[in-house]
Amino acid sequence: TEALRMVSVRKAYGHPEGEVTALDRVSLSLPAGSFTAVMGPSGSGKSTLIECAAGLDTPDTGVVVVDGAQVAGRGEEELAKFRRQRIGSIFQQFDLVETETVLANVTLPLRTAGKRVDTSYAEHIATQAGLGGRLHHLLAELSDSERQRVAIARALVANPSVIFGDEPTGGLDPDSARNVLELLSHSVRQFGQSVVLATHDPVAASYADSVVFMADGKLAGCLHQPTPAAVAE
Ligand code: ADP
Ligand code: ADP
Repeated sequence: TEALRMVSVRKAYGHPEGEVTALDRVSLSLPAGSFTAVMGPSGSGKSTLIECAAGLDTPDTGVVVVDGAQVAGRGEEELAKFRRQRIGSIFQQFDLVETETVLANVTLPLRTAGKRVDTSYAEHIATQAGLGGRLHHLLAELSDSERQRVAIARALVANPSVIFGDEPTGGLDPDSARNVLELLSHSVRQFGQSVVLATHDPVAASYADSVVFMADGKLAGCLHQPTPAAVAE
């Protein structure tokens, strides 16, 4: 199966000055087990693409298939369930619980989905994300960078088929950024998960095996990187 298939996806937003076409009949296919970066200028539609793919936004027309299953056209409850089972999301709006610990936040999707919580695995992933000394701290005690890494660890712990991220390295210092990118590409290589990131960050893009370029709501090109820079180094 494919990680993501989009067929003629269109999404427009109403603006006082007229309608803006954020996605203009976008079609693409990303194989399972791939790491893809979506790049392009500000306003080119990257976030809208990722949000539609992750089921956080609904296209006006077109088809979105994630891990072999249609995303659009599901009821809200069924979509939420599908997202919990198959999709990991790393978005700017982290939706973390301030009054809970790092570990509790990281395992929250598992608990919500009624899945077994493997605490030592959750600790392992959170530690890999650079939160080893913070596992039992409340979110309210964390820096923005640490919050972001909690969101990343949370997306990984649920073991989703596909992880979607919007600028996941945006607020991170270079070392933390490399750290989480390593973590994401490790999931791809080791567990066959798929990662799709909207990003401006050339370092993040260097971890991808292909880069999809957006311009004015359209796909403007695709670049396959045979050797990820991270491996070549
Ligand atoms: P990018 O992520 O590449 O910066 P976006 O997907 O955020 O691009 O935006 C694409 C276009 O859609 C922009 O012109 C933006 O202003 C518009 N847009 C995105 N989200 C909304 C929204 N919620 N309401 C109105 N316009 C939006
Ligand atoms: P980072 O390098 O992760 O961006 P900072 O330099 O912002 O972290 O913060 C350094 C340390 O201070 C972090 O480990 C963080 O946990 C702690 N810290 C930051 N902000 C707060 C806060 N508002 N309350 C308690 N501790 C904080």
